Amino acid sequence: MRIAIVGAGMTGLSCARMLADAGLEPIVFEKSRGLGGRLATRRTDALRFDHGAQFVTARGESFRRYLEQNAQPWQPEGAPEGWFAGAPSMNDLVRPLAEGLDVWFDELVAPVRDRVQWHIGEGLFDRVVSTVPVTQARNMFSGMMDPLTEVEIAPCWTLMAAFVEPTDWPDMWRAREGDLAWIGRNSAKPGRVETPESWVVHASPEWSRDHLEIEKEAAPELMLNLLREARGSLPDIVYASAHRWRYAMTTTALGRSHVASEDGSLLIGGDWCLGARVEDAWESGRAMAAAILNP
Ligand SMILES: Cc1cc2nc3c(=O)[nH]c(=O)nc-3n(C[C@H](O)[C@H](O)[C@H](O)COP(=O)(O)OP(=O)(O)OC[C@H]3O[C@@H](n4cnc5c(N)ncnc54)[C@H](O)[C@@H]3O)c2cc1C
Repeated sequence: MRIAIVGAGMTGLSCARMLADAGLEPIVFEKSRGLGGRLATRRTDALRFDHGAQFVTARGESFRRYLEQNAQPWQPEGAPEGWFAGAPSMNDLVRPLAEGLDVWFDELVAPVRDRVQWHIGEGLFDRVVSTVPVTQARNMFSGMMDPLTEVEIAPCWTLMAAFVEPTDWPDMWRAREGDLAWIGRNSAKPGRVETPESWVVHASPEWSRDHLEIEKEAAPELMLNLLREARGSLPDIVYASAHRWRYAMTTTALGRSHVASEDGSLLIGGDWCLGARVEDAWESGRAMAAAILNP
């Protein structure tokens, strides 16, 4: 059976891994140049920032086992028990899943169906597993996927900053109200270089939505102002940039692990099926693999 998986984030790779472990040979198409999707890391000369997911937790046994083997515990003050981080970068969390898989990078694909098969470029496939953001899935497979209209995803503006002097701030601060949702000392996570300190700051979903279309160049200064308001004053800044996540965190999930077309040849999944967390992506990916293996 020829299987194409669109997207090399946690959903796509957990699906591909399970299929490969069962002896199948899926091909993974990824539009960017690297693995991980929103498990993302930005590198500059001396600095690294995990500008997407900040930490991971497990509610279920299979993901807990995976984290215990492939992530490092991270227990900043004030965090509940059981936080993990990929090390030395968040996208290292998916690297073991991708071992030995056929992953094609720089491939922005849109599968097309004829009477018998799916086409991706010159390739023909019996099954397609889509893990693209729900908004893109709606366009890509329009007409087939009514249930997807219920799902909602909030954006997130992210600031990546480094200062001349170290700060005495706590390693992690988060809030459910106000303009900022998260301030984290990235360099305090396991396996990171501790100096210079790197900080990742997430704006709240409301602020991010209100400022979604601002120029990218204007975002760092606006977010530094929010940080100043939250922390009093800032040391001199050596680096500041911002990233706009248009589809960051699910606010209304689908409520089931994936959607399948009537003939079972197309499976659509992603974290947004079950929630807003990396574990939801893991579960969605594995449920799609199970559906292919046990139709
Ligand atoms: C700012 C932010 C903070 C977060 N914080 C946390 C946190 O602390 N803890 C937590 O558990 N979760 C957090 N999350 C959520 C977590 O990152 C996601 O739940 C998880 O990474 C989603 O994985 P996924 O594979 O479903 O989607 P994605 O990671 O988005 O993967 C989809 C992949 O598909 C690729 N793609 C898209 N379209 C195409 C196409 N047409 N062709 C080929 N490839 C395509 C993309 O490039 C991407 O690699 C956060 C997310 C963001 C953005």
